[in-house]
Amino acid sequence: MGEPLSLRCLSCNREYRPWAHDYLCPHCGPVAGALDLVYNYRLLSQRLGRGTFAETRQLSLWRYEALLPVSADYAVPLRAGWTPLYALPALARELRLEELWAKDDTLHPTASCKDRGTAVAVAAARKLNRPALACASTGNAASSLAGFAAAAGIPCYIFVPRAAPPAKVAQLVAYGAVVFKVDGTYDQAYALALEACDRFGWYNRSDGQNPMIVEGNKTAALEVGEDLRWELPDVAVVSAGDGSVVAGIAKGFLELQRVGLAARVPTVYGVQAEGAAAIARAFTRFQAGEPILPASAGAKTIADSICVGEPRDALRAVKAVAETGGGFVTVSDGEIASAVRELARRAGMFAEPSGAAPLAGLRKLTADGALAPGARVVLFITGSGLKDPQGGLAGVPEPPVIPPDIAAVEEALG
Ligand SMILES: [Zn+2]
Repeated sequence: MGEPLSLRCLSCNREYRPWAHDYLCPHCGPVAGALDLVYNYRLLSQRLGRGTFAETRQLSLWRYEALLPVSADYAVPLRAGWTPLYALPALARELRLEELWAKDDTLHPTASCKDRGTAVAVAAARKLNRPALACASTGNAASSLAGFAAAAGIPCYIFVPRAAPPAKVAQLVAYGAVVFKVDGTYDQAYALALEACDRFGWYNRSDGQNPMIVEGNKTAALEVGEDLRWELPDVAVVSAGDGSVVAGIAKGFLELQRVGLAARVPTVYGVQAEGAAAIARAFTRFQAGEPILPASAGAKTIADSICVGEPRDALRAVKAVAETGGGFVTVSDGEIASAVRELARRAGMFAEPSGAAPLAGLRKLTADGALAPGARVVLFITGSGLKDPQGGLAGVPEPPVIPPDIAAVEEALG
């Protein structure tokens, strides 16, 4: 494993010993005090070669144990990571890109990219001998934690907003988690989870709180690097709710450069819904030299996984994306719903609205002339459409009902 050097506060830059704090910088507190694991990149650059990861023969994110803070010995058997990267040549031609790929993170044990952060956080909880796991989530992180907790045999407590889609709540119940449906917003569920973890000593997996999450999330970028034989794409596009996923992807690419495996870093763009764009606004303030925090705005979008009014990892997301020279783009719910259908019909990938939002973001970036013609682009497809089948299919007509009769088929075809 990577033996991190320190935990560094994203606001005050104080450094702590690895494992000195579970969550936040004690000087800076919630949101501002997010901690980031720092490794000895000079040493790693001497140890790591282009074939090092393949030598592990691990077909999961534990392949990248050398860049992770916890040993694979603590991992639960569920497989996180090592998802496919599909080329989309027809869409690439249409958008005048040299190459376009989709990283299909819907193919995870609980059907979203959240299994990456969960895998590392649950391994950390096992290393630390924590008695129980908990998190607040718009849905995906919760079902992910519930699944991995079940595999680990550790009790799990979940706080979701009352409006969480039924398919996601069904997953939680099936995995045997204790579920609290909070009569309030995601932001209220988050605050309640914090209080409960504090009172009962549960290990908190919530985004923006636990520094292990971004370590798991970054492995999606490491996989793209290895898949493309370390010729990284020019641009990476991923949706952003709390900001932990986009921050992780940017961190993964940046670390590949720091350890000498990649010559340069892709420009990373975060995609937010117009109705839930707190990080995009914070990024605009950051560029104007104004404070990033507090980042908050209204939250209303069909993409429930990124329907976040007070993003908990905004600081990390803004700083990491800025370091890649990237930015944020906002898209309408109509554009997101079109992207769900387009991705399904043209690529055979059924994503939930937040998972398809990067395609809507890419269309906007190309229309705005933000991408150079001939760019090589990767989209991160973060969650399965089966999680929220209604989300992207509003306004699509129901299939006709026909009698069991071949003449009726002919008539319907005609
Ligand atoms: Zn601090």
